Amino acid sequence: MAYLTLKNINKIYPNGFHAVHNFNLEIEKGEFIVFVGSSGCGKSTTLRMIAGLEEISSGDLLINGERANELGPRQREVAMVFQSYALYPQMSVYDNLAFSLVLQGVDEDVIEERVNKTAAILGLTDYLDRMPRALSGGQRQRVAVGRAIIRKVGIFLMDEPLSNLDAKQRVTMRSEITQIHRETGATTIYVTHDQTEAMTMADRIVIMRDGYIQQVGTPKELYFNPANVFVAGFIGEPPMNFVKGTVKDGKISFCGTKIDLKLKLKDKISEYEGKPIVFGFRPEAIKLGKQADSYVFNCDVELNEMLGDNTNVYIVSGDDRAILKVDPHDSPEVDTNIDFSVPYENVYLFDGETENVINI
Ligand code: ADP
Ligand code: MG
Repeated sequence: MAYLTLKNINKIYPNGFHAVHNFNLEIEKGEFIVFVGSSGCGKSTTLRMIAGLEEISSGDLLINGERANELGPRQREVAMVFQSYALYPQMSVYDNLAFSLVLQGVDEDVIEERVNKTAAILGLTDYLDRMPRALSGGQRQRVAVGRAIIRKVGIFLMDEPLSNLDAKQRVTMRSEITQIHRETGATTIYVTHDQTEAMTMADRIVIMRDGYIQQVGTPKELYFNPANVFVAGFIGEPPMNFVKGTVKDGKISFCGTKIDLKLKLKDKISEYEGKPIVFGFRPEAIKLGKQADSYVFNCDVELNEMLGDNTNVYIVSGDDRAILKVDPHDSPEVDTNIDFSVPYENVYLFDGETENVINI
Protein backbone atom coordinates (compact mmCIF):
# COMPACT_ATOMS: atom_id res chain seq x y z
CA MET A 1 0.00 0.00 0.00
CA ALA A 2 1.22 3.47 -0.87
CA TYR A 3 2.31 5.80 1.92
CA LEU A 4 0.44 8.76 0.48
CA THR A 5 -2.56 8.44 -1.81
CA LEU A 6 -4.35 11.24 -3.62
CA LYS A 7 -7.57 9.94 -5.12
CA ASN A 8 -9.60 12.11 -7.49
CA ILE A 9 -8.61 15.27 -5.66
CA ASN A 10 -10.24 18.49 -6.83
CA LYS A 11 -9.87 22.05 -5.68
CA ILE A 12 -12.53 24.60 -6.41
CA TYR A 13 -11.77 27.94 -4.76
CA PRO A 14 -14.64 29.90 -3.13
CA ASN A 15 -14.72 32.20 -6.19
CA GLY A 16 -15.58 29.15 -8.30
CA PHE A 17 -12.16 28.72 -9.90
CA HIS A 18 -11.39 25.04 -10.50
CA ALA A 19 -7.65 24.97 -9.79
CA VAL A 20 -7.00 21.21 -9.54
CA HIS A 21 -8.84 18.55 -11.55
CA ASN A 22 -9.07 14.85 -10.61
CA PHE A 23 -5.55 14.58 -9.26
CA ASN A 24 -4.57 10.93 -8.79
CA LEU A 25 -1.23 9.85 -7.40
CA GLU A 26 0.29 7.19 -5.17
CA ILE A 27 3.54 7.98 -3.40
CA GLU A 28 5.72 5.34 -1.80
CA LYS A 29 7.53 5.86 1.48
CA GLY A 30 10.89 7.57 0.95
CA GLU A 31 10.16 8.77 -2.59
CA PHE A 32 11.27 12.18 -3.81
CA ILE A 33 8.39 13.46 -5.92
CA VAL A 34 8.55 16.72 -7.87
CA PHE A 35 5.47 18.61 -9.04
CA VAL A 36 6.54 20.70 -12.01
CA GLY A 37 4.69 23.04 -14.35
CA SER A 38 4.33 26.70 -15.27
CA SER A 39 3.15 29.30 -12.82
CA GLY A 40 -0.55 28.94 -12.00
CA CYS A 41 -0.91 25.25 -12.96
CA GLY A 42 -1.98 24.21 -9.44
CA LYS A 43 1.25 22.95 -7.85
CA SER A 44 1.03 25.00 -4.65
CA THR A 45 -2.69 24.38 -4.34
CA THR A 46 -2.11 20.62 -4.43
CA LEU A 47 0.78 20.83 -1.97
CA ARG A 48 -1.25 22.99 0.40
CA MET A 49 -4.12 20.48 0.30
CA ILE A 50 -1.65 17.75 1.32
CA ALA A 51 -0.30 20.00 4.09
CA GLY A 52 -3.79 20.73 5.41
CA LEU A 53 -3.47 24.45 4.70
CA GLU A 54 -6.14 24.36 2.00
CA GLU A 55 -9.43 22.48 2.11
CA ILE A 56 -9.87 19.58 -0.32
CA SER A 57 -13.05 20.25 -2.34
CA SER A 58 -13.56 16.60 -3.28
CA GLY A 59 -11.60 13.38 -3.39
CA ASP A 60 -9.61 11.46 -0.77
CA LEU A 61 -6.24 12.06 0.77
CA LEU A 62 -4.83 9.01 2.52
CA ILE A 63 -1.71 9.14 4.67
CA ASN A 64 -0.45 5.71 5.62
CA GLY A 65 -3.78 4.26 4.55
CA GLU A 66 -5.86 6.55 6.78
CA ARG A 67 -8.15 9.23 5.42
CA ALA A 68 -6.54 12.57 6.25
CA ASN A 69 -8.90 15.11 4.61
CA GLU A 70 -10.26 16.27 7.94
CA LEU A 71 -6.99 16.29 9.89
CA GLY A 72 -5.39 19.62 10.80
CA PRO A 73 -1.86 20.41 9.61
CA ARG A 74 -0.26 19.39 12.92
CA GLN A 75 -1.98 15.99 12.94
CA ARG A 76 -0.73 15.11 9.47
CA GLU A 77 2.94 14.58 10.29
CA VAL A 78 4.03 16.94 7.54
CA ALA A 79 6.61 19.73 7.55
CA MET A 80 6.62 22.43 4.92
CA VAL A 81 9.36 24.70 3.55
CA PHE A 82 8.16 27.84 1.81
CA GLN A 83 9.78 29.97 -0.84
CA SER A 84 9.76 32.91 1.55
CA TYR A 85 11.78 30.97 4.21
CA ALA A 86 9.33 32.19 6.91
CA LEU A 87 12.04 32.42 9.60
CA TYR A 88 11.39 34.25 12.88
CA PRO A 89 13.48 37.40 12.39
CA GLN A 90 13.88 38.13 16.10
CA MET A 91 15.20 34.64 16.90
CA SER A 92 18.70 33.22 16.45
CA VAL A 93 19.34 30.33 14.09
CA TYR A 94 19.43 28.01 17.10
CA ASP A 95 16.03 29.21 18.33
CA ASN A 96 14.54 29.07 14.85
CA LEU A 97 15.61 25.45 14.56
CA ALA A 98 14.52 24.60 18.10
CA PHE A 99 11.16 26.36 17.98
CA SER A 100 8.87 23.53 16.85
CA LEU A 101 10.46 21.14 19.34
CA VAL A 102 10.01 23.66 22.17
CA LEU A 103 6.31 23.91 21.25
CA GLN A 104 6.07 20.13 21.43
CA GLY A 105 7.58 20.20 24.90
CA VAL A 106 10.62 18.15 23.95
CA ASP A 107 13.39 17.96 26.64
CA GLU A 108 16.05 20.64 26.39
CA ASP A 109 18.88 18.08 26.12
CA VAL A 110 17.14 16.35 23.25
CA ILE A 111 16.49 19.69 21.56
CA GLU A 112 20.14 20.64 21.83
CA GLU A 113 21.24 17.33 20.37
CA ARG A 114 18.77 17.55 17.47
CA VAL A 115 19.65 21.19 16.74
CA ASN A 116 23.35 20.35 16.67
CA LYS A 117 22.82 17.35 14.42
CA THR A 118 20.58 19.29 12.03
CA ALA A 119 23.03 22.20 11.95
CA ALA A 120 25.84 19.77 11.14
CA ILE A 121 23.90 18.22 8.23
CA LEU A 122 23.22 21.69 6.83
CA GLY A 123 26.60 23.29 7.49
CA LEU A 124 25.09 25.75 9.99
CA THR A 125 27.13 24.83 13.06
CA ASP A 126 29.09 28.10 13.03
CA TYR A 127 25.97 30.22 12.59
CA LEU A 128 23.75 29.06 15.44
CA ASP A 129 24.06 32.36 17.33
CA ARG A 130 23.36 34.55 14.32
CA MET A 131 20.10 36.31 13.59
CA PRO A 132 18.46 35.59 10.19
CA ARG A 133 19.22 39.10 8.90
CA ALA A 134 22.94 38.39 9.26
CA LEU A 135 22.75 35.35 6.96
CA SER A 136 23.02 35.03 3.18
CA GLY A 137 20.00 33.88 1.17
CA GLY A 138 21.43 30.38 0.90
CA GLN A 139 22.06 30.17 4.64
CA ARG A 140 18.52 31.37 5.41
CA GLN A 141 17.15 28.74 3.09
CA ARG A 142 19.22 26.12 4.91
CA VAL A 143 17.70 27.21 8.22
CA ALA A 144 14.24 26.90 6.66
CA VAL A 145 15.05 23.37 5.49
CA GLY A 146 16.55 22.60 8.90
CA ARG A 147 13.37 23.71 10.68
CA ALA A 148 11.45 21.19 8.64
CA ILE A 149 13.82 18.21 8.93
CA ILE A 150 14.38 18.66 12.66
CA ARG A 151 10.78 17.64 13.28
CA LYS A 152 11.41 14.14 11.86
CA VAL A 153 7.96 13.98 10.33
CA GLY A 154 7.01 11.46 7.70
CA ILE A 155 6.35 13.87 4.87
CA PHE A 156 8.40 16.79 3.82
CA LEU A 157 6.75 19.40 1.55
CA MET A 158 8.75 22.09 -0.24
CA ASP A 159 7.25 24.87 -2.34
CA GLU A 160 9.82 26.43 -4.70
CA PRO A 161 12.36 26.58 -1.88
CA LEU A 162 15.22 27.75 -4.11
CA SER A 163 13.56 30.46 -6.14
CA ASN A 164 14.91 33.33 -4.02
CA LEU A 165 18.51 32.20 -4.52
CA ASP A 166 20.91 33.18 -7.29
CA ALA A 167 21.78 30.67 -10.01
CA LYS A 168 24.93 29.39 -8.35
CA GLN A 169 23.38 28.99 -4.91
CA ARG A 170 20.47 27.14 -6.50
CA VAL A 171 22.77 24.53 -8.01
CA THR A 172 24.54 24.04 -4.66
CA MET A 173 21.30 23.81 -2.64
CA ARG A 174 19.81 21.45 -5.22
CA SER A 175 22.45 18.82 -4.56
CA GLU A 176 22.34 19.52 -0.81
CA ILE A 177 18.61 18.87 -0.66
CA THR A 178 19.08 15.65 -2.65
CA GLN A 179 21.81 14.64 -0.19
CA ILE A 180 19.62 15.48 2.84
CA HIS A 181 16.85 13.38 1.33
CA ARG A 182 19.27 10.49 0.95
CA GLU A 183 20.34 10.84 4.59
CA THR A 184 16.90 11.31 6.15
CA GLY A 185 14.93 9.08 3.78
CA ALA A 186 11.88 11.31 4.34
CA THR A 187 9.11 11.13 1.76
CA THR A 188 9.39 14.44 -0.04
CA ILE A 189 7.14 16.41 -2.36
CA TYR A 190 8.98 19.27 -3.98
CA VAL A 191 7.30 21.95 -6.11
CA THR A 192 9.14 23.85 -8.82
CA HIS A 193 8.57 25.49 -12.19
CA ASP A 194 12.14 24.62 -13.18
CA GLN A 195 12.52 21.53 -15.34
CA THR A 196 16.21 21.20 -14.48
CA GLU A 197 15.39 20.96 -10.76
CA ALA A 198 12.72 18.41 -11.54
CA MET A 199 15.02 16.32 -13.73
CA THR A 200 17.99 16.38 -11.37
CA MET A 201 16.19 15.86 -8.06
CA ALA A 202 13.15 13.68 -8.63
CA ASP A 203 12.63 9.95 -8.30
CA ARG A 204 9.37 10.64 -10.14
CA ILE A 205 8.06 13.82 -11.72
CA VAL A 206 4.42 14.89 -11.87
CA ILE A 207 4.07 17.35 -14.70
CA MET A 208 1.01 19.62 -14.49
CA ARG A 209 -0.77 22.04 -16.78
CA ASP A 210 -3.86 24.14 -16.05
CA GLY A 211 -4.79 22.01 -13.02
CA TYR A 212 -4.43 18.67 -14.81
CA ILE A 213 -1.68 16.06 -14.51
CA GLN A 214 -0.07 15.61 -17.91
CA GLN A 215 2.22 12.71 -17.06
CA VAL A 216 3.83 10.98 -14.10
CA GLY A 217 7.14 9.22 -14.53
CA THR A 218 10.84 9.05 -13.83
CA PRO A 219 12.99 11.78 -15.39
CA LYS A 220 14.10 9.25 -18.02
CA GLU A 221 10.54 8.21 -18.87
CA LEU A 222 9.47 11.82 -19.33
CA TYR A 223 12.50 12.67 -21.46
CA PHE A 224 12.43 9.60 -23.69
CA ASN A 225 8.71 8.78 -23.70
CA PRO A 226 6.74 12.02 -23.36
CA ALA A 227 2.98 11.46 -23.46
CA ASN A 228 2.20 14.61 -25.41
CA VAL A 229 3.53 17.78 -27.02
CA PHE A 230 3.35 19.69 -23.74
CA VAL A 231 5.56 17.26 -21.82
CA ALA A 232 7.95 16.89 -24.76
CA GLY A 233 8.33 20.67 -24.92
CA PHE A 234 8.63 21.18 -21.16
CA ILE A 235 11.37 18.64 -20.45
CA GLY A 236 14.73 19.27 -22.12
CA GLU A 237 16.73 22.43 -22.79
CA PRO A 238 16.51 23.77 -25.44
CA PRO A 239 13.08 22.17 -25.83
CA MET A 240 12.15 19.57 -28.43
CA ASN A 241 11.66 20.97 -31.92
CA PHE A 242 8.17 20.64 -33.34
CA VAL A 243 7.18 20.94 -36.95
CA LYS A 244 3.57 20.92 -38.05
CA GLY A 245 2.63 19.05 -41.14
CA THR A 246 -0.15 17.17 -42.83
CA VAL A 247 0.01 13.56 -43.85
CA LYS A 248 -0.57 13.07 -47.54
CA ASP A 249 0.12 9.78 -49.33
CA GLY A 250 2.11 8.65 -46.28
CA LYS A 251 4.40 11.67 -46.42
CA ILE A 252 4.61 14.78 -44.28
CA SER A 253 5.87 18.17 -45.20
CA PHE A 254 8.78 19.56 -43.18
CA CYS A 255 11.41 22.23 -43.89
CA GLY A 256 9.69 22.96 -47.17
CA THR A 257 10.26 19.41 -48.41
CA LYS A 258 8.05 16.38 -48.28
CA ILE A 259 9.52 13.54 -46.32
CA ASP A 260 8.77 9.94 -46.80
CA LEU A 261 8.04 8.33 -43.44
CA LYS A 262 10.07 5.19 -43.15
CA LEU A 263 9.84 1.74 -41.63
CA LYS A 264 7.05 0.80 -39.24
CA LEU A 265 5.91 4.40 -39.22
CA LYS A 266 4.38 4.16 -42.60
CA ASP A 267 1.65 1.67 -41.67
CA LYS A 268 0.79 3.49 -38.50
CA ILE A 269 0.67 6.83 -40.22
CA SER A 270 -1.94 5.76 -42.75
CA GLU A 271 -4.54 6.31 -40.00
CA TYR A 272 -3.55 9.97 -40.09
CA GLU A 273 -3.94 10.44 -43.82
CA GLY A 274 -5.22 13.98 -44.45
CA LYS A 275 -4.88 14.94 -40.78
CA PRO A 276 -2.51 17.33 -39.04
CA ILE A 277 0.49 15.81 -37.39
CA VAL A 278 3.41 17.13 -35.34
CA PHE A 279 6.91 15.88 -36.06
CA GLY A 280 9.26 16.23 -33.06
CA PHE A 281 12.99 15.83 -32.57
CA ARG A 282 15.29 16.93 -29.80
CA PRO A 283 18.03 19.50 -30.56
CA GLU A 284 20.64 17.05 -29.24
CA ALA A 285 19.32 14.08 -31.24
CA ILE A 286 20.58 15.17 -34.66
CA LYS A 287 23.75 14.73 -36.71
CA LEU A 288 25.14 17.25 -39.17
CA GLY A 289 25.35 16.25 -42.83
CA LYS A 290 23.61 13.44 -44.66
CA GLN A 291 23.59 10.28 -42.56
CA ALA A 292 22.24 6.80 -43.19
CA ASP A 293 19.00 5.57 -41.56
CA SER A 294 17.92 9.14 -40.91
CA TYR A 295 15.58 11.78 -42.22
CA VAL A 296 17.78 14.33 -43.96
CA PHE A 297 16.78 18.01 -44.02
CA ASN A 298 18.16 21.07 -45.70
CA CYS A 299 18.01 24.48 -44.02
CA ASP A 300 19.66 27.88 -43.54
CA VAL A 301 21.62 28.84 -40.44
CA GLU A 302 20.27 32.02 -38.80
CA LEU A 303 22.15 32.26 -35.55
CA ASN A 304 24.72 30.47 -33.40
CA GLU A 305 24.84 30.52 -29.61
CA MET A 306 28.20 29.27 -28.33
CA LEU A 307 27.69 27.96 -24.80
CA GLY A 308 31.05 26.31 -24.26
CA ASP A 309 30.17 22.63 -24.12
CA ASN A 310 27.86 22.96 -27.11
CA THR A 311 26.53 25.44 -29.64
CA ASN A 312 22.82 26.03 -30.27
CA VAL A 313 22.31 26.51 -33.98
CA TYR A 314 19.07 28.28 -34.95
CA ILE A 315 17.90 27.12 -38.36
CA VAL A 316 15.11 28.04 -40.73
CA SER A 317 13.55 26.42 -43.74
CA GLY A 318 10.47 28.00 -45.25
CA ASP A 319 8.15 28.72 -42.35
CA ASP A 320 9.75 26.12 -40.08
CA ARG A 321 12.31 26.91 -37.40
CA ALA A 322 14.31 24.65 -35.14
CA ILE A 323 17.34 24.56 -32.87
CA LEU A 324 20.18 22.07 -33.31
CA LYS A 325 22.62 21.33 -30.50
CA VAL A 326 26.07 20.66 -31.94
CA ASP A 327 29.68 20.36 -30.86
CA PRO A 328 31.12 23.91 -30.91
CA HIS A 329 34.00 22.69 -33.11
CA ASP A 330 31.49 21.62 -35.78
CA SER A 331 29.12 24.56 -35.65
CA PRO A 332 28.18 25.79 -39.14
CA GLU A 333 28.60 29.44 -40.12
CA VAL A 334 25.66 31.84 -39.99
CA ASP A 335 23.97 32.39 -43.37
CA THR A 336 25.18 29.09 -44.80
CA ASN A 337 22.96 26.33 -46.12
CA ILE A 338 23.38 22.95 -44.42
CA ASP A 339 22.02 19.44 -44.29
CA PHE A 340 21.29 17.70 -41.03
CA SER A 341 19.96 14.27 -40.19
CA VAL A 342 17.51 12.99 -37.60
CA PRO A 343 18.04 9.24 -37.05
CA TYR A 344 14.75 7.34 -37.50
CA GLU A 345 14.79 6.19 -33.87
CA ASN A 346 15.02 9.77 -32.58
CA VAL A 347 11.77 10.93 -34.14
CA TYR A 348 8.55 11.58 -32.24
CA LEU A 349 5.16 11.98 -33.88
CA PHE A 350 2.17 13.59 -32.22
CA ASP A 351 -1.48 13.76 -33.21
CA GLY A 352 -1.95 17.35 -34.43
CA GLU A 353 -5.42 17.59 -32.87
CA THR A 354 -5.09 15.93 -29.46
CA GLU A 355 -1.32 16.60 -29.23
CA ASN A 356 -0.92 13.09 -27.79
CA VAL A 357 2.07 11.03 -28.83
CA ILE A 358 1.60 8.49 -31.60
CA ASN A 359 3.41 5.35 -30.53
CA ILE A 360 5.63 4.39 -33.41
P1 ADP B 1 1.24 27.28 -8.97
O1 ADP B 1 1.71 27.01 -7.59
O2 ADP B 1 1.35 26.10 -9.88
O3 ADP B 1 1.89 28.50 -9.56
P2 ADP B 1 -1.30 27.78 -7.64
O4 ADP B 1 -1.64 26.47 -7.07
O5 ADP B 1 -0.77 28.81 -6.73
O6 ADP B 1 -0.33 27.60 -8.91
O7 ADP B 1 -2.58 28.39 -8.34
C1 ADP B 1 -3.34 27.65 -9.26
C2 ADP B 1 -4.47 28.52 -9.78
O8 ADP B 1 -5.38 28.80 -8.74
C3 ADP B 1 -4.00 29.88 -10.30
O9 ADP B 1 -4.74 30.19 -11.45
C4 ADP B 1 -4.32 30.81 -9.15
O10 ADP B 1 -4.58 32.12 -9.63
C5 ADP B 1 -5.56 30.18 -8.57
N1 ADP B 1 -5.70 30.49 -7.14
C6 ADP B 1 -4.77 30.32 -6.18
N2 ADP B 1 -5.24 30.67 -4.96
C7 ADP B 1 -6.52 31.07 -5.17
C8 ADP B 1 -7.57 31.56 -4.32
N3 ADP B 1 -7.37 31.68 -2.99
N4 ADP B 1 -8.74 31.87 -4.89
C9 ADP B 1 -8.94 31.73 -6.22
N5 ADP B 1 -8.01 31.26 -7.08
C10 ADP B 1 -6.81 30.94 -6.57
MG1 MG C 1 3.12 28.07 -6.45
